[in-house]
Amino acid sequence: MDLNYSPEDLAFRDTTRRWFEANTPRQELKTLAERKAWHRTLYDAGYVGMGWPRQYGGGDATPMQQAIVADEMARVNAPPTVNGLGIGIVGPTIIVHGTEAQKQRYLKRILTADDLWCQLYSEPNAGSDLASLKTRADDRGDHFEVTGQKIWTSGGLIADWGLLLARTDSTVPKHKGISCFLISMRQPGVEVRPLKQITGSAEFAEVFMTQARVEKSDLIGRLGQGWEIAQTTLSYERGGNSLARVTRYTSAFHQLVGAARTLRRGGRPLLDDPLVRSRLGRVYVELEVQRYAALRVLSALTKGDGPGAASSITKLSYSEFEKRFNELALEVLGPYGQTTSGLPEGLSFPVVASSGHGETWAYSFLWSRAGTIYAASSEVQKNVIGERVLGLPKEPRADRVKA
Ligand SMILES: Cc1cc2nc3c(=O)[nH]c(=O)nc-3n(C[C@H](O)[C@H](O)[C@H](O)COP(=O)(O)OP(=O)(O)OC[C@H]3O[C@@H](n4cnc5c(N)ncnc54)[C@H](O)[C@@H]3O)c2cc1C
Repeated sequence: MDLNYSPEDLAFRDTTRRWFEANTPRQELKTLAERKAWHRTLYDAGYVGMGWPRQYGGGDATPMQQAIVADEMARVNAPPTVNGLGIGIVGPTIIVHGTEAQKQRYLKRILTADDLWCQLYSEPNAGSDLASLKTRADDRGDHFEVTGQKIWTSGGLIADWGLLLARTDSTVPKHKGISCFLISMRQPGVEVRPLKQITGSAEFAEVFMTQARVEKSDLIGRLGQGWEIAQTTLSYERGGNSLARVTRYTSAFHQLVGAARTLRRGGRPLLDDPLVRSRLGRVYVELEVQRYAALRVLSALTKGDGPGAASSITKLSYSEFEKRFNELALEVLGPYGQTTSGLPEGLSFPVVASSGHGETWAYSFLWSRAGTIYAASSEVQKNVIGERVLGLPKEPRADRVKA
């Protein structure tokens, strides 16, 4: 595996770096309209959906070029695109499993953020055990009628469309009776209620569907193929863009070292404390491990290998690392970790999340819990790694144990 950039990659990185240095907004983007406008600027510059086929509005870019752009965005802490789920999950699912008509109708509008998307998978009793979902889609001749409840729907409040998993056959084993649909969120049968999180903001929603309509032409793949399709989606979600995360955390790490130099305990800089030095040193080593793990994923993608089950290893390791990092940050910063304004000179707010919410260190700490839950929790990732990567025996589960 060659970890060096080729001359072409270096030239591309320089052009990209210049563009982001010149165009990244200097102030926080507060409204959806401002974030959409920034998204559009990125799209016009060719930095959105770069890996998608050119015929559907993408740029046919290599995994290395995509990693370079993500990395350069992280370097200057550029605000993210607005349609993350649409671009990261829904679009790739339509590209792999959709009909030509679905590709023509939806893909370009996902890239331009004319349509915002959400993912309607989890239910109150179907999270880790997603195949137990109960939302039904009944065949009504010329359309499907959907009834049921979804929960933890990120971006549900602003979404125009949803990627939906629903049960179409309850007479077959649970994994085989699920189908995948595209559903309009803007119709009378769909009610969206906000869910306020521990961070204080409401990025999630509960979605109630009562005889909501899905056109026959909006079934993705075959009837009953939903579970298989969901596996493609989840592996994209778990693969993530790990190199950009490492860059973001490296910047935040240097902020933390700066804070440990500025803050004093017993009349001496905190950085002189052997325990603080040792904890920071450990985080630095972990960051380097993350960097090489990210490069390994990039190398596999460059060779044309899909994200696959091994993406669980990357997801487990970075999400657990994020929690440890943010815990250390709050310990080092003490009361300044809770401050929402007026940090003393030498201290600054974190650059790790960049979600456009004006994060404090406390916000970043609280948000870091999420990574070990979404796209399958850490415990479930360990099961996937054990069973599908290492080939260990399957975990004993109640529904697999004979009475
Ligand atoms: C930030 C965030 C964004 C999200 N966005 C979306 C979204 O947009 N769309 C969507 O559909 N969903 C979304 N989710 C939901 C997410 O997919 C679920 O929360 C997740 O799958 C876990 O399901 P659950 O919450 O029902 O927990 P449960 O499945 O009830 O798990 C509870 C606990 O039991 C453990 N556990 C469960 N099964 C096992 C097992 N077999 N072995 C060992 N331990 C186990 C879990 O690790 C966890 O600790 C989001 C969640 C978060 C945190």
